[in-house]
Amino acid sequence: MTSTPLPLLSSPAPLAPPVSAAAAEGGAAGPYESYVYAYPHKTAYRAFGRPRALRELWADEPMDALSLYLHIPFCEVRCGFCNLFTRVGAPDGLTGAYLDALARQAKAVRRALGDGRRVQFATAAFGGGTPTFLTAGELTRLCDIAEQDMGADLRAVPLSVEASPATATADRLAVLAERGATRLSLGVQSFVDAEARAAVRPQRRADVEAALARVRAARIPVLNIDLIYGIEGQTERSWRQSLDAALAWRPEELYLYPLYVRPLTGLGRQGTGADPAWDAQRLRLYRFGRDHLRAHGYEQRSMRMFRRADAPPEVADDHTCQTDGMIGLGCGARSYTRTVHYSFDYAVGRGRIREILDDYVSRPADDFAHAEYGRELTGDEARRRHLLQSLLRADGMDTGAYTACFGSAPAADFPGELARFAARGWLEPERADGVLRLTGEGLAHSDALGPELFSPAVRAAMAAYDLT
Ligand code: SF4
Repeated sequence: MTSTPLPLLSSPAPLAPPVSAAAAEGGAAGPYESYVYAYPHKTAYRAFGRPRALRELWADEPMDALSLYLHIPFCEVRCGFCNLFTRVGAPDGLTGAYLDALARQAKAVRRALGDGRRVQFATAAFGGGTPTFLTAGELTRLCDIAEQDMGADLRAVPLSVEASPATATADRLAVLAERGATRLSLGVQSFVDAEARAAVRPQRRADVEAALARVRAARIPVLNIDLIYGIEGQTERSWRQSLDAALAWRPEELYLYPLYVRPLTGLGRQGTGADPAWDAQRLRLYRFGRDHLRAHGYEQRSMRMFRRADAPPEVADDHTCQTDGMIGLGCGARSYTRTVHYSFDYAVGRGRIREILDDYVSRPADDFAHAEYGRELTGDEARRRHLLQSLLRADGMDTGAYTACFGSAPAADFPGELARFAARGWLEPERADGVLRLTGEGLAHSDALGPELFSPAVRAAMAAYDLT
């Protein structure tokens, strides 16, 4: 799905295009360079010279507040804008074989974390793909894997699940609600049927409304609705129709995504070149959507995320160094220690995705005790990651927390970048309480500003990535 349950922390990576020359050289790029919610991007990962034993990677990591992410790489259709790691449909038995592999991986990873050590998960998420592509019985098994094989107490922690309207059926939602789901994110994208078709996500509004009614009936505490702007033919009027249709359900959260057209996607086949008129349309629709949601009682949390002001409080995300502990299970999931990020190989093209998936389901348990593919985080990369994680949020970054983590001030580590953002009117002066925040225009240009914080090494690796 499009949604991001734990912003800048989890989910398989959408493909970020190589950073433009303007951004790489510090010039002002277009407003839609790339969506940065994980750093470094997966296209900067490479095969390790030798497999790295998970037992060693996790030996000195804090284990008291880990995040758990389970990735389900199946969807009913391939949306035209989507470059996530997912395949359309599953031949007979593939979902069962995938869950078998997931269980083998969970057991192997749990063993590698250390048999005698206390391991505690603070959050959990099922993402994809479409986790609700699984049947109700398979979702029960997925929860069992998270609990029994991995040791997460799903009813005791926030559990976020992504779903599509067609697969958000009453029986599946009942399983998820009963097992402790606290957030259900529905990828709607548009309530206007013609726009859904234009985004190659054919669906009828009546079916979307019925799915929303089922989600509300399931009483999962937080409903998130994903919408997209910048679709061909979309106007302020039709955008407002979608926003109002979503608002009628009083969702606790709304994510507004600019449409991206990326290589190898359905829409990408029509070309991915620069288009200033389209940039202007997206910026216009962004501002309209932001102002409309604010006027209806929503607070802006980031460029994309809006939360109803009277919704139950969010799970704490304190942006300390502790946000690094992430266990990802499944062939598109990433895992993070403080110094190493790893995953399986990544692809967008149909053939390569199937190869990686087939390889994953055939792996014996021992294979999952090692990481083969990823990226080591230098101190500089860890600083950049922290800056990205906090600066792109509407409430900004606590420079004191940054200094507590790294022993230096952001202004000392990134003088050129921060001065440039300030000169463009994207950054407010640092406040007396040490908070550094983007301006409204800075937030609107998050997808230009974020890529400018990539290190030269990460940029080079992304540019050299062979996308298949
Ligand atoms: S539902 Fe569409 S957007 Fe979501 S993962 Fe599947 S193909 Fe991608």
